[in-house]
This record gives sequence, structure tokens and C-alpha cells, in this order.
Amino acid sequence: MTSTPPPSSLDPEIAARLKRSADGLVPAIAQQYDTGEVLMLGWMDDEALHRTLTTGRCTYWSRSRREYWVKGDTSGHVQHVKSVALDCDADTLLVQVDQVGAACHTGARTCFEADVLTVTGPGAPEPGPSGTPEPGPSAAPEPGPSAGPVSGPVTGRSGSGTAADGQ
Ligand SMILES: [Zn+2]
Repeated sequence: MTSTPPPSSLDPEIAARLKRSADGLVPAIAQQYDTGEVLMLGWMDDEALHRTLTTGRCTYWSRSRREYWVKGDTSGHVQHVKSVALDCDADTLLVQVDQVGAACHTGARTCFEADVLTVTGPGAPEPGPSGTPEPGPSAAPEPGPSAGPVSGPVTGRSGSGTAADGQ
């Protein structure tokens, strides 16, 4: 074994189950515990996980600075740890936190709102479960502002009635 994790105070029972990357790290997804927002992704080694589990503050390993990084120590944007879970094959952590302020260093609430890519594949707009033939809102054209009878050809407004995508 060449990739022995560095000495850490992490519970050996947990350490034995962790599946780390070649550099000894596990990706940790931070999620706002009450709204379900996916906030950011960081990396933890055994000691960072130990500190996250025991200090109440989310602690990551900074791959660029090669040091532990307690989220919010410099920004004030603290993550109070609510729960930590391992995924089914023990190679990813889900940390539910109460995020103070912005999770992203850019000042955005989450790291995933500034660069949304376009999805063109089938099923992108409608999240409905496949197999159930729901009648759904058929492609009937909207009658526009629904006051009074519509007279003459309706121009413009070729909307397909898709819901606004909110935030
Ligand atoms: Zn970010």
C-alpha cells in the first residue's frame, strides 16, 4: 500500500470504509440542509473529515494551497455542519450545512448558478415520470390576456406556455 492516509484522528471505523482518490481525498458536496440547495464541492482528507464531524464547522483540504481550510474563516461565510453522509460506495461525502451568506468565493449563493449550460436532449423541459401518459397542458395556444372576446387573427405570442424557470 503506497497511499496510506496521513495520520488523523478520524474514527478508524470510518477511515476503513472511505474510498479515497489517488491523492488521498474524497469529494464532499455541501448542501443547504433545509432548502436542498447544492452549494459547492470541496475535498476532504481523513483529518478534514474528522474536523468536520467534530468541530461543527465544515473543513476542507485546499488542493491549491495544500492546507486545511475552515470554510468561512476568511470570508465569514461559515458552514455549520448538520449531518454528514457517505454515498453508497463510500467515495463521496454529502455534508448538510447551514450556510451563512454565499457559499461561492465569487459571492454567489452557490457555485452552480453562474454558468448554466444549455440542455437540448429530449425530456429537458418536462420532468414528468416516463410511462404515465398524462394529458398535461396540451399545446393549445394561449388566448392572450383573457378579457373579452378575441377578434381577428392573433399575432405574436407564439408561446408554448412553458413555465417560468424561476430562480
Ligand atoms: Zn464557487
